[in-house]
Amino acid sequence: MSALRDKQVIVTAGPTIEPIDPVRFLSNRSSGKQGYLIAGALAAKGARVRLVSGPTCLPCPDGVERISIETARDMLAAVETALPADAFIAVAAVADWRPAHTSGRKAEKGAQGSTLELVENPDILATISRHTTQRPGLVIGFAAETHDVFDRARAKRIRKGCDWIIANDVSGDVMGGDENAAWLITDEGEAEWPRAPKQTIAENLAAAMDAHFSSR
Ligand code: C5P
Repeated sequence: MSALRDKQVIVTAGPTIEPIDPVRFLSNRSSGKQGYLIAGALAAKGARVRLVSGPTCLPCPDGVERISIETARDMLAAVETALPADAFIAVAAVADWRPAHTSGRKAEKGAQGSTLELVENPDILATISRHTTQRPGLVIGFAAETHDVFDRARAKRIRKGCDWIIANDVSGDVMGGDENAAWLITDEGEAEWPRAPKQTIAENLAAAMDAHFSSR
């Protein structure tokens, strides 16, 4: 039997969108595919998965509870509400910034000039990694990098305070594509996952988590 059976796992996926006014927003090109596949692979091994998802076109994987949000701040609040959990996996491409001011009315061309003031969004992975009372036992992040992938990901694991980080090279067509090449970086070492369908990456991660929980 899988050691993931009945483990509570929270996964974030997709982009966040940050409103400028009722018809405009800031966002990014994340499709949500990798996070949805990870949620599905964990549920297939019997984990109880809550998927906190930004807007995507994807159906909810079988056996997964989806919590739909739009902004980074809503994503953080939804993750905190879903605690406690045995594991947290941050796959979402959270928008780094949001507009400092959101208008309740559609902004008129020319009325306010063309400068958008931005403020930084909360870092959900770093916040959950350093949660003082309900930090999940296993916290996993992703590092999508276009250069110095390995070194930047190792530094990011320390900076964010997570246990594992999955580094991937997004200099090609990974975002929105169906394939991914990755390294799993933990405090015990690194494993290379060669370029493969995102489903294989999801299964590799589920297998690594299964092994981790089996050894506890
Ligand atoms: O700093 P960077 O965006 O490269 O970090 C990527 C990792 O951090 C991913 O796991 C992503 O889901 C997570 N993250 C987050 N909240 C943010 C920014 C990134 O959870 N505001």
